[in-house]
Amino acid sequence: MRTCSHEGCEGQIRARGMCGKHYEKWRAANPKAVTSYGDMRQQVLDALPATRPELQEKLGINRSTAQSWLKKLRDERAIHISKWQRPKVSGNFLAVHAVGFGIDARCYLKPKTSADYANRYREQKRQHERTRYYEAKAKKKPQTWFSALGAA
Ligand SMILES: [Zn+2]
Repeated sequence: MRTCSHEGCEGQIRARGMCGKHYEKWRAANPKAVTSYGDMRQQVLDALPATRPELQEKLGINRSTAQSWLKKLRDERAIHISKWQRPKVSGNFLAVHAVGFGIDARCYLKPKTSADYANRYREQKRQHERTRYYEAKAKKKPQTWFSALGAA
């Protein structure tokens, strides 16, 4: 079993890897530190609009925490994606999250997914079949303009 991170302390962990006593001390020394759901939620909302890495940097949280917060707030419909940011050097496009529920910005810049390719292929096939259908129909029916030329 893990014990308090303070050296020499054998107390049972209560929060942030510290025992109750040391945690209370730490809380008194860091009044601005994020501790509860409400505090954290408000801090995340105050930090927006931001991308996930920006949020991590602003609040000093790690990737998974930032991800889970963004997910929670999205589920609550408290935030939405306002735009997509081009990567500075390389990598994925980043969603800029903004406060308020709205329609998520579409990422036109993102590489196409396989679903996009499949849809495009299906549409092309449909278009092709439609053309073939009208061609066949035209062949069956004698064209009045054609016989008028005297060639038929
Ligand atoms: Zn302790």
